[in-house]
Amino acid sequence: MSEQATARTIDRSKMQVSDEVAIEISNMNKWFGSFHVLRDINLTVNQGERIVIAGPSGSGKSTLIRCLNALEEHQQGKITVDGTVLSNDLKNIDKIRREVGMVFQHFNLFPHLTILENLTLAPIWVRKTPKKEAEETAMHFLEKVKIPEQALKYPGQLSGGQQQRVAIARSLCMKPRIMLFDEPTSALDPEMIKEVLDTMIELAEEGMTMLVVTHEMGFARQVANRVIFMDAGQIVEQNEPEEFFNNPKSERTKLFLSQIL
Ligand code: ADP
Ligand code: MG
Repeated sequence: MSEQATARTIDRSKMQVSDEVAIEISNMNKWFGSFHVLRDINLTVNQGERIVIAGPSGSGKSTLIRCLNALEEHQQGKITVDGTVLSNDLKNIDKIRREVGMVFQHFNLFPHLTILENLTLAPIWVRKTPKKEAEETAMHFLEKVKIPEQALKYPGQLSGGQQQRVAIARSLCMKPRIMLFDEPTSALDPEMIKEVLDTMIELAEEGMTMLVVTHEMGFARQVANRVIFMDAGQIVEQNEPEEFFNNPKSERTKLFLSQIL
């Protein structure tokens, strides 16, 4: 676990939280078979919030964010994303996946496609965007993540940090309103973590609503407006970063922080 300090000056004044609700989870429960993995989750996220989700391995962090774009089903309670209730109706799922981008620990790029093809695949085939327009959008986002010169290479020719930035650009090509990150830097060598965090910081500065599962507590302090601590399927505690780190309330949070900081 690192306290990756970023050399950039972060402009938190650009990170405005609006009154508009982006995600609302009420009384949500989820089981895997008989295993009760998420317990009575209540969480409201407004547009523009940057939320870091922390907690020990197996506490349900991935499952929680996977429920938000219907990669996992929940059995009880209600999840509303950008005004759309997440039911098992395929139409709703499609709409929500369009608005919610997700970046995983492993980049999941198609190895036999170029970077540009990885970025245009879904826009062309799912969204029916004309190829030329999809390529222009892809190049725009490759420039944004600072690797336009890699467009015609294959994923295997890029470093891990570059591949993760491609994965972020690929999500952005779908113009999401919300981005979910599941340990986006955990598979990266230390020297590559910063370039991915910097990309995420820029997104935050542009007002993107973000939920980030990460052990990068430096990122949490600098970018998050709220840190959520999960343990054993529950949200145990949440607070603004300063309070969360300096004045944790529950014993479980204290123990967790003592282990990682
Ligand atoms: P975290 O991301 O906090 O490490 P996860 O959400 O991945 O935790 O997992 C929470 C718990 O649910 C763990 O005990 C894990 O073993 C279990 N789990 C995760 N996915 C499945 C699945 N598909 N089937 C059964 N159990 C699962
Ligand atoms: Mg996980």
